[in-house]
Amino acid sequence: MGRRGVHCIVRPGRAVSLPVPNRPSGYSSRKEPRLSDPNCLFCRIVRGEIPATIVYQDDQLVAFRDINPQAPTHILIIPHEHVATLNELVPSQGKLMGHMHLLAQALARAEGIAESGWRVVINCGADAGQSVFHVHMHVLGGRSFGWPPG
Ligand code: 5GP
Ligand code: ZN
Repeated sequence: MGRRGVHCIVRPGRAVSLPVPNRPSGYSSRKEPRLSDPNCLFCRIVRGEIPATIVYQDDQLVAFRDINPQAPTHILIIPHEHVATLNELVPSQGKLMGHMHLLAQALARAEGIAESGWRVVINCGADAGQSVFHVHMHVLGGRSFGWPPG
């Protein structure tokens, strides 16, 4: 076992070692993200070049209504900084992701859907149906949703 290894008991008396505790490979190997992409639709919304119905913004995040809502409440939360997909996220952006979830909670309360139930979706890549390659969180509510998703 290496210096940073950890024993993970899989059966009594039998142990395996993982190279980095609790971290899948690649977890911390990414370069820092680009701050803005001139051709990215959501970067352009952040810069105010494309109109959107903005419901919240601060120095890190913008939240706006989806142009093609799939539920009575359908809000997108995006970071100012350009991150194409969850695959590109780096550990220094962990707090930012926490901030996105706390904003989703606040928006759900403001929309009156916190108690009835709501859903957060982040599509990552082609099979998940991601169509805009700037990380965004869908906040959906105001109706019942099926499971599993389509
Ligand atoms: P994805 O499919 O990538 O997870 O989600 C992209 C979302 O962005 C879709 O729900 C789509 O309706 C929304 N969208 C695409 N273009 C615009 C736009 O110009 N303005 C707004 N407000 N939403 C957009
Ligand atoms: Zn972008």
